[in-house]
Amino acid sequence: MAALAPWASDPRHSRGRRIAEAEATAESPYQSDRERIVHCTAFRRLVYKTQVFINHEGDLFRTRLTHSLEVAQLARSLARALQLNEDLVEAIALAHDLGHTPFGHAGQDALHDCMRDHGGFEHNLQSLRVVDVLEQRYPHFDGLNLSFETREGILKHCSRARAERLERDEPQGVGRRFIDGNQPSLEAQLVNLADEIAYSAHDIDDGVRSGLITVEQLLAVPLLRQCHDEARAQSPHPAASRRVLFDAIRRMLARQCDDLVGCTRAALGRHAPANADAARRAPALVTFSPPMRDAATVLKRFLFAELYRHSQVRRSTDRARQVVAELFAEYVRRPSEMPPEHASQPRRERAVADYIAGMTDRYALREHQRLTGRVLFADAA
Ligand code: MG
Repeated sequence: MAALAPWASDPRHSRGRRIAEAEATAESPYQSDRERIVHCTAFRRLVYKTQVFINHEGDLFRTRLTHSLEVAQLARSLARALQLNEDLVEAIALAHDLGHTPFGHAGQDALHDCMRDHGGFEHNLQSLRVVDVLEQRYPHFDGLNLSFETREGILKHCSRARAERLERDEPQGVGRRFIDGNQPSLEAQLVNLADEIAYSAHDIDDGVRSGLITVEQLLAVPLLRQCHDEARAQSPHPAASRRVLFDAIRRMLARQCDDLVGCTRAALGRHAPANADAARRAPALVTFSPPMRDAATVLKRFLFAELYRHSQVRRSTDRARQVVAELFAEYVRRPSEMPPEHASQPRRERAVADYIAGMTDRYALREHQRLTGRVLFADAA
């Protein structure tokens, strides 16, 4: 790993783990965090969880697992360019979606509705809950007992009310910055943007592959049009539309990364935070330039309107919401249908939400069929 910049997260100054452990001397705490994340159950389940397309709709679409790997590799190369801590960005990226429900955002919205009178459901908080509480694989603690900096990066958003609750349980912990209005580490800021760059690029690919959006439609997005024109002009196979599109997506990724690195270097040079904590008190320093921010927003709006809200995607997601809502009602009514470790929890609705959130798409469908006798996705069998 290249030398760290003064404002990078230095493992020697980590705020440590909630339960103190003797650290292995050969590796940094962020390397052990990454290993714990890769070996946990929730990580393996990401392979059967939806990103945009329901898992059974095709074998080539991204899942939460491939998305997390793409974010990790992109964040890692950006961290290298900026002399930030590569191990920390990798750990945050691999864990950032662990709390996602089956069926993507549709599943989360449905579960939030079910939990409205019981504290709600939010996937960032759930990711933290997975690594702090729900994974049960170590003798001396619940969860994975990750270091503060990895947990801070996992909790990307948090309402003030929830932050205050977190702060009561863990004074000066990962909820604090939402009360004080501070930033997370530069590594956490970087993973947020790598996430956005990665999903915008791979959703274009999956959207075109699925036939729900066309290249012609995409050319209405100026950033993509420029990259596509360049790719076609320089291609020895300009008629091979898939290859031109892949190249256009690569060029778009490269432009966004170059912009981010250039802009962030300039911001870091201007603010020159003395260390990682000083960077937390500065404004967000990992940023796009204003024109690239605008261009990325136009792209995200396009994907939202034309892909995520596409009638065919919505038909799937409406049924997925129904699966989650009906599963929730069944388990609340008959908790003994859940495994004993969930059935025995005192807060029944929270236990049901934890159980459903941990399910893969296909497991949720099987359980729904078992408990209701109805098949909502005939094509998933
Ligand atoms: Mg993500």
